[in-house]
Amino acid sequence: MAIDLESYQRIKKEAGDAGALLVAVSKTKPASDILALYQEGQRDFGENYVQELCDKAAQLPADIHWHFIGHLQRNKVKYIAPFVYLIHGVDSFRLLEEIGKQADKLNRELHCLLQVHIASEETKFGLSESELTDCFQQISAARNNNKLIRVRIRGLMGMASFTENQGIVANEFLVLRSMFDRFQEHFDQEAGKTILSMGMSADYRLALEKGSNLIRIGSSLFGARDYATQ
Ligand SMILES: *Cc1c(COP(=O)(O)O)cnc(C)c1O
Repeated sequence: MAIDLESYQRIKKEAGDAGALLVAVSKTKPASDILALYQEGQRDFGENYVQELCDKAAQLPADIHWHFIGHLQRNKVKYIAPFVYLIHGVDSFRLLEEIGKQADKLNRELHCLLQVHIASEETKFGLSESELTDCFQQISAARNNNKLIRVRIRGLMGMASFTENQGIVANEFLVLRSMFDRFQEHFDQEAGKTILSMGMSADYRLALEKGSNLIRIGSSLFGARDYATQ
Protein backbone atom coordinates (compact mmCIF):
# COMPACT_ATOMS: atom_id res chain seq x y z
CA MET A 1 0.00 0.00 0.00
CA ALA A 2 1.37 3.35 -1.02
CA ILE A 3 -1.08 6.20 -0.72
CA ASP A 4 0.46 9.58 -1.39
CA LEU A 5 -1.40 11.69 1.17
CA GLU A 6 0.59 14.79 0.36
CA SER A 7 -0.44 14.62 -3.29
CA TYR A 8 -3.97 13.85 -2.24
CA GLN A 9 -4.28 16.98 -0.10
CA ARG A 10 -2.65 19.11 -2.77
CA ILE A 11 -4.77 17.85 -5.68
CA LYS A 12 -7.92 17.98 -3.54
CA LYS A 13 -7.21 21.64 -2.84
CA GLU A 14 -6.46 22.43 -6.49
CA ALA A 15 -9.70 20.73 -7.54
CA GLY A 16 -11.66 22.48 -4.80
CA ASP A 17 -10.24 25.89 -5.72
CA ALA A 18 -11.36 25.28 -9.32
CA GLY A 19 -14.82 24.12 -8.21
CA ALA A 20 -14.12 20.61 -9.48
CA LEU A 21 -14.81 17.19 -8.01
CA LEU A 22 -11.85 14.88 -7.44
CA VAL A 23 -12.52 11.24 -8.31
CA ALA A 24 -9.82 8.91 -6.97
CA VAL A 25 -9.20 6.20 -9.57
CA SER A 26 -8.49 3.02 -7.65
CA LYS A 27 -8.43 0.39 -10.43
CA THR A 28 -6.01 -2.47 -9.72
CA LYS A 29 -5.47 -1.14 -6.18
CA PRO A 30 -6.54 -3.05 -3.07
CA ALA A 31 -9.58 -2.17 -0.97
CA SER A 32 -7.23 -1.22 1.86
CA ASP A 33 -5.87 1.66 -0.24
CA ILE A 34 -9.39 2.90 -0.90
CA LEU A 35 -10.19 2.71 2.79
CA ALA A 36 -7.07 4.71 3.61
CA LEU A 37 -8.27 7.58 1.39
CA TYR A 38 -11.82 7.16 2.66
CA GLN A 39 -10.50 7.79 6.13
CA GLU A 40 -9.08 11.08 4.86
CA GLY A 41 -12.61 12.04 3.81
CA GLN A 42 -12.56 10.97 0.15
CA ARG A 43 -15.95 9.64 -1.02
CA ASP A 44 -15.72 9.53 -4.82
CA PHE A 45 -13.81 6.62 -6.34
CA GLY A 46 -13.44 5.51 -9.95
CA GLU A 47 -13.10 1.96 -11.29
CA ASN A 48 -12.69 0.58 -14.82
CA TYR A 49 -13.64 -3.07 -14.53
CA VAL A 50 -17.11 -4.34 -13.60
CA GLN A 51 -16.06 -7.40 -11.63
CA GLU A 52 -13.43 -5.49 -9.69
CA LEU A 53 -15.88 -2.69 -8.92
CA CYS A 54 -18.54 -5.13 -7.68
CA ASP A 55 -16.04 -6.95 -5.47
CA LYS A 56 -14.79 -3.71 -3.93
CA ALA A 57 -18.22 -2.12 -3.49
CA ALA A 58 -19.37 -5.20 -1.57
CA GLN A 59 -16.63 -4.86 1.02
CA LEU A 60 -16.31 -1.08 1.37
CA PRO A 61 -18.51 1.56 3.06
CA ALA A 62 -21.92 2.05 1.48
CA ASP A 63 -21.65 5.85 1.29
CA ILE A 64 -18.87 5.71 -1.31
CA HIS A 65 -19.84 7.24 -4.66
CA TRP A 66 -18.66 4.72 -7.26
CA HIS A 67 -17.83 6.15 -10.67
CA PHE A 68 -17.58 3.67 -13.52
CA ILE A 69 -14.96 5.16 -15.85
CA GLY A 70 -14.08 2.18 -18.05
CA HIS A 71 -15.59 0.87 -21.25
CA LEU A 72 -18.93 -0.65 -20.29
CA GLN A 73 -20.34 -3.65 -22.14
CA ARG A 74 -24.10 -3.84 -22.42
CA ASN A 75 -24.34 -7.27 -20.85
CA LYS A 76 -22.59 -6.00 -17.71
CA VAL A 77 -24.74 -2.95 -16.98
CA LYS A 78 -26.98 -5.02 -14.73
CA TYR A 79 -24.16 -5.76 -12.28
CA ILE A 80 -23.35 -2.14 -11.47
CA ALA A 81 -26.80 -0.58 -11.97
CA PRO A 82 -28.00 -1.16 -8.37
CA PHE A 83 -25.27 0.96 -6.80
CA VAL A 84 -23.23 2.93 -9.36
CA TYR A 85 -23.18 6.71 -8.85
CA LEU A 86 -22.09 7.92 -12.30
CA ILE A 87 -21.26 6.06 -15.52
CA HIS A 88 -18.68 8.15 -17.39
CA GLY A 89 -17.94 6.27 -20.59
CA VAL A 90 -21.26 5.92 -22.43
CA ASP A 91 -20.42 5.88 -26.11
CA SER A 92 -23.47 4.48 -27.88
CA PHE A 93 -27.22 4.84 -27.87
CA ARG A 94 -27.58 1.06 -27.59
CA LEU A 95 -25.68 1.16 -24.33
CA LEU A 96 -27.98 3.94 -23.09
CA GLU A 97 -31.00 1.80 -23.95
CA GLU A 98 -29.64 -1.01 -21.81
CA ILE A 99 -28.89 1.44 -18.99
CA GLY A 100 -32.48 2.69 -19.31
CA LYS A 101 -33.82 -0.84 -19.14
CA GLN A 102 -31.92 -1.60 -15.95
CA ALA A 103 -32.91 1.75 -14.44
CA ASP A 104 -36.58 0.96 -15.06
CA LYS A 105 -36.21 -2.53 -13.64
CA LEU A 106 -34.68 -1.16 -10.44
CA ASN A 107 -36.82 1.97 -10.38
CA ARG A 108 -33.56 3.85 -9.84
CA GLU A 109 -32.22 6.85 -11.72
CA LEU A 110 -28.91 6.19 -13.45
CA HIS A 111 -26.61 9.12 -14.13
CA CYS A 112 -24.37 9.04 -17.20
CA LEU A 113 -21.83 11.05 -19.14
CA LEU A 114 -21.42 10.66 -22.87
CA GLN A 115 -17.83 9.99 -23.87
CA VAL A 116 -16.45 12.11 -26.67
CA HIS A 117 -13.49 11.08 -28.78
CA ILE A 118 -11.02 13.96 -28.57
CA ALA A 119 -7.65 12.19 -28.79
CA SER A 120 -5.78 11.62 -32.01
CA GLU A 121 -5.27 7.95 -31.11
CA GLU A 122 -7.56 5.48 -32.85
CA THR A 123 -7.81 3.28 -29.80
CA LYS A 124 -9.67 5.61 -27.49
CA PHE A 125 -13.42 5.15 -27.28
CA GLY A 126 -15.93 7.90 -27.73
CA LEU A 127 -18.41 9.68 -29.97
CA SER A 128 -17.57 12.21 -32.63
CA GLU A 129 -19.45 15.48 -32.63
CA SER A 130 -21.90 14.33 -35.29
CA GLU A 131 -22.48 11.05 -33.45
CA LEU A 132 -23.16 13.08 -30.32
CA THR A 133 -25.75 15.12 -32.21
CA ASP A 134 -27.37 11.92 -33.48
CA CYS A 135 -27.32 10.42 -30.01
CA PHE A 136 -29.20 13.40 -28.53
CA GLN A 137 -31.78 13.10 -31.29
CA GLN A 138 -32.28 9.43 -30.44
CA ILE A 139 -32.50 10.29 -26.75
CA SER A 140 -35.23 12.86 -27.23
CA ALA A 141 -37.15 10.54 -29.56
CA ALA A 142 -36.90 7.79 -26.94
CA ARG A 143 -38.12 10.11 -24.20
CA ASN A 144 -41.07 11.12 -26.33
CA ASN A 145 -41.93 7.43 -26.25
CA ASN A 146 -41.62 7.32 -22.48
CA LYS A 147 -38.24 5.57 -22.61
CA LEU A 148 -34.94 6.49 -20.92
CA ILE A 149 -36.96 8.39 -18.34
CA ARG A 150 -34.72 7.20 -15.51
CA VAL A 151 -31.50 7.94 -17.37
CA ARG A 152 -29.93 11.29 -16.60
CA ILE A 153 -27.42 12.61 -19.11
CA ARG A 154 -25.33 14.83 -16.86
CA GLY A 155 -22.60 15.94 -19.28
CA LEU A 156 -19.52 14.81 -21.17
CA MET A 157 -16.31 12.91 -20.56
CA GLY A 158 -13.14 12.73 -22.61
CA MET A 159 -9.54 11.57 -22.58
CA ALA A 160 -6.78 13.56 -24.21
CA SER A 161 -4.01 12.03 -26.30
CA PHE A 162 -1.17 10.32 -24.50
CA THR A 163 1.56 12.81 -25.38
CA GLU A 164 4.07 15.09 -23.72
CA ASN A 165 2.95 17.85 -26.05
CA GLN A 166 0.92 20.16 -23.82
CA GLY A 167 -0.28 22.17 -26.80
CA ILE A 168 -2.01 19.13 -28.29
CA VAL A 169 -3.59 18.19 -24.96
CA ALA A 170 -4.74 21.77 -24.29
CA ASN A 171 -6.33 21.93 -27.71
CA GLU A 172 -8.19 18.65 -27.20
CA PHE A 173 -9.52 19.88 -23.86
CA LEU A 174 -10.66 23.09 -25.53
CA VAL A 175 -12.51 21.11 -28.18
CA LEU A 176 -14.32 19.12 -25.50
CA ARG A 177 -15.06 22.23 -23.45
CA SER A 178 -16.60 23.98 -26.42
CA MET A 179 -18.79 20.94 -27.16
CA PHE A 180 -19.79 20.89 -23.50
CA ASP A 181 -20.87 24.53 -23.79
CA ARG A 182 -22.70 24.06 -27.07
CA PHE A 183 -24.63 20.94 -25.97
CA GLN A 184 -25.45 22.37 -22.55
CA GLU A 185 -29.22 22.50 -23.16
CA HIS A 186 -29.23 18.73 -23.77
CA PHE A 187 -27.84 17.83 -20.35
CA ASP A 188 -29.89 16.98 -17.30
CA GLN A 189 -28.91 19.29 -14.50
CA GLU A 190 -28.83 18.26 -10.88
CA ALA A 191 -28.84 21.14 -8.41
CA GLY A 192 -28.14 23.38 -11.39
CA LYS A 193 -25.01 21.42 -12.29
CA THR A 194 -23.79 19.63 -15.37
CA ILE A 195 -20.53 17.68 -15.55
CA LEU A 196 -17.42 17.94 -17.69
CA SER A 197 -15.15 15.01 -16.77
CA MET A 198 -11.66 15.59 -18.11
CA GLY A 199 -8.15 15.44 -16.68
CA MET A 200 -5.99 12.64 -15.26
CA SER A 201 -2.74 12.60 -13.25
CA ALA A 202 -0.60 13.88 -16.10
CA ASP A 203 -2.90 16.59 -17.39
CA TYR A 204 -5.39 17.61 -14.70
CA ARG A 205 -4.01 21.14 -14.25
CA LEU A 206 -4.46 21.84 -17.93
CA ALA A 207 -7.93 20.29 -17.77
CA LEU A 208 -8.97 22.50 -14.84
CA GLU A 209 -7.63 25.51 -16.69
CA LYS A 210 -9.79 24.60 -19.70
CA GLY A 211 -12.95 24.25 -17.63
CA SER A 212 -13.09 20.69 -16.30
CA ASN A 213 -15.29 20.29 -13.22
CA LEU A 214 -14.41 16.64 -12.53
CA ILE A 215 -10.90 15.20 -12.59
CA ARG A 216 -10.08 11.48 -12.48
CA ILE A 217 -6.80 10.89 -10.67
CA GLY A 218 -5.18 7.48 -10.17
CA SER A 219 -1.41 7.12 -10.14
CA SER A 220 -0.69 10.44 -8.43
CA LEU A 221 -2.68 9.22 -5.42
CA PHE A 222 -2.15 5.46 -5.41
CA GLY A 223 1.19 5.09 -7.20
CA ALA A 224 1.85 3.45 -10.56
CA ARG A 225 -0.38 0.53 -11.50
CA ASP A 226 0.99 -2.97 -11.92
CA TYR A 227 -1.24 -4.77 -14.42
CA ALA A 228 0.96 -7.85 -14.30
CA THR A 229 -0.51 -8.84 -10.93
CA GLN A 230 -4.11 -8.68 -12.19
C1 LIG B 1 -6.97 4.91 -15.33
C2 LIG B 1 -7.81 6.07 -15.71
C3 LIG B 1 -7.63 7.33 -15.09
C4 LIG B 1 -6.54 7.63 -14.09
O1 LIG B 1 -5.32 7.70 -14.73
P1 LIG B 1 -3.99 8.24 -13.99
O2 LIG B 1 -3.11 8.64 -15.10
O3 LIG B 1 -3.48 7.11 -13.20
O4 LIG B 1 -4.40 9.40 -13.14
C5 LIG B 1 -8.51 8.34 -15.46
N1 LIG B 1 -9.48 8.16 -16.37
C6 LIG B 1 -9.67 6.97 -16.98
C7 LIG B 1 -10.77 6.83 -17.97
C8 LIG B 1 -8.83 5.90 -16.69
O5 LIG B 1 -9.01 4.73 -17.33
